[in-house]
Amino acid sequence: MEMQQIKIIGAGLAGCEAAWQCARRGIRVELYEMRPVRTTPAHQTADFAELVCSNSLKSESENTAPWLLKEEMRRAGSLLIEIARECAVPAGHALAVDRALFSAKVTEVISRESLIRIVREEVAEIREHQLTIIATGPLTSDALSLEIARLSQAASVFDLTEGESGAGSRTGMSDPHEPRSHGHLYFYDSISPIVEADSIDMSKVYLAARYDKGTADYINCPMTKEEYERFLDALLSAEAVEAKEWEKLNYFESCLPIEEIARRGRDTLRFGPMKPVGLRDPRTGRPPYAVVQLRQENLRADSYNLVGFQNHLRFGEQARVLRMIPGLENAKFLRFGQIHRNTYINSPMLLNATQQMKAHPAVLFAGQICGVEGYVESIATGMLAGIHAAALVVGETPIAPPRATALGSLVNYITQADAKKFQPANITFDLLPPLEKKVRDRQLRHKMQCELGLGELSRWLAEIGRSQHAEVGQAL
Ligand SMILES: Cc1cc2nc3c(=O)[nH]c(=O)nc-3n(C[C@H](O)[C@H](O)[C@H](O)COP(=O)(O)OP(=O)(O)OC[C@H]3O[C@@H](n4cnc5c(N)ncnc54)[C@H](O)[C@@H]3O)c2cc1C
Repeated sequence: MEMQQIKIIGAGLAGCEAAWQCARRGIRVELYEMRPVRTTPAHQTADFAELVCSNSLKSESENTAPWLLKEEMRRAGSLLIEIARECAVPAGHALAVDRALFSAKVTEVISRESLIRIVREEVAEIREHQLTIIATGPLTSDALSLEIARLSQAASVFDLTEGESGAGSRTGMSDPHEPRSHGHLYFYDSISPIVEADSIDMSKVYLAARYDKGTADYINCPMTKEEYERFLDALLSAEAVEAKEWEKLNYFESCLPIEEIARRGRDTLRFGPMKPVGLRDPRTGRPPYAVVQLRQENLRADSYNLVGFQNHLRFGEQARVLRMIPGLENAKFLRFGQIHRNTYINSPMLLNATQQMKAHPAVLFAGQICGVEGYVESIATGMLAGIHAAALVVGETPIAPPRATALGSLVNYITQADAKKFQPANITFDLLPPLEKKVRDRQLRHKMQCELGLGELSRWLAEIGRSQHAEVGQAL
């Protein structure tokens, strides 16, 4: 392996966190970012760590799985989680950020770090023996996708010649609904629409948090049964963006377009993103028949996103259908919902527990491309890849986080899941190991799992801190 410095490809969430972790251990980094020279279908700026859809980093309620993951990252010294806290906007019990401020701050801190050299260029080639972290995300450029396919010896399975917007066809795959155990896979993700705050008719909506948990930061648009039925009919008959073969494939279950959810049954939306339970309308004293929730986008509170309303309709159709939501009759859309490619590798087949390629141990993967799903999960695997790569530089054997931690469970999932059915995952308690003793009470069980995880984390941090800091000291 060529060890003097670490090459990190992609200055997104995972790449920035990885670069920071290396630098804070005294290791030099070359951080490659292709924007603005070349952009992706979802990014809108040249800033690092841009949040392309929701501005939420999920729950901050103690003893939930997303909280545990963030808490572990805070204790391990995650830069991006720290910056997220500084840029937080009111969002009840969730950690949501002012997205522009967040990425501006990350860009500033990373650019200021003298051990990180930034190179604004698209990387299309990987040298297997050079210590490299690939963190190019779900919208990895086509040229690099081909290179990754080559590295994972799966190039023949894919035809990536359609270009950035074409999103690639699936030639060579016999059953598109069944992800195959080749090195490189695709599926598709969606973006929620955003409306201007001033265009919301506040006389028709109300502020509330579900079950009055946390502060009442969400704007709720209530629907009667008749309004819901009319909305559903309009949604089901609305024209989608031209359906291509690839659009029928592998929607990630927790990120389904609303029209796809609606097709599954007339009440399915009311049990999903339009769920009214716990959202009592103060004017009636009861929850409405269905509800659309709007979440604040930025600190200025001048825009709101429609929570869980990612969709694949034509923009004109979106405006028509979404304006049927009470309170949004005159909504001004700052962004419409969209669907984009999501590229990820088959990690169970390709990676070991420290995110190194089994076949090329100098090459590590981090972020969404390694098969985690979500902002925080991407930052988490970036943090780990940075820690592991820094250990490799000083000749240490990297140590994976313990299985009982959320970090360890996430990595355990991406490296141990069934390769034939591999699908990206968010952190949930399902990924954590069950307790040795059966505990019936769910809340108590989760609390105990969190305590166990945090205890194991301390042990791991002491272990990696001891070995790496000593070695870095010698190496410098
Ligand atoms: C459309 C869409 C919406 C999403 N919405 C959400 C959401 O609401 N909530 C959530 O939790 N997660 C969401 N995700 C999933 C995921 O959390 C985000 O994509 C997240 O940004 C992933 O972080 P990352 O660091 O892996 O990749 P990114 O943040 O995308 O960073 C990758 C970086 O690599 C750069 N790059 C790509 N190819 C090259 C190359 N060849 N050379 C150099 N640089 C390159 C890109 O420009 C980019 O800056 C969404 C994903 C997509 C695609």
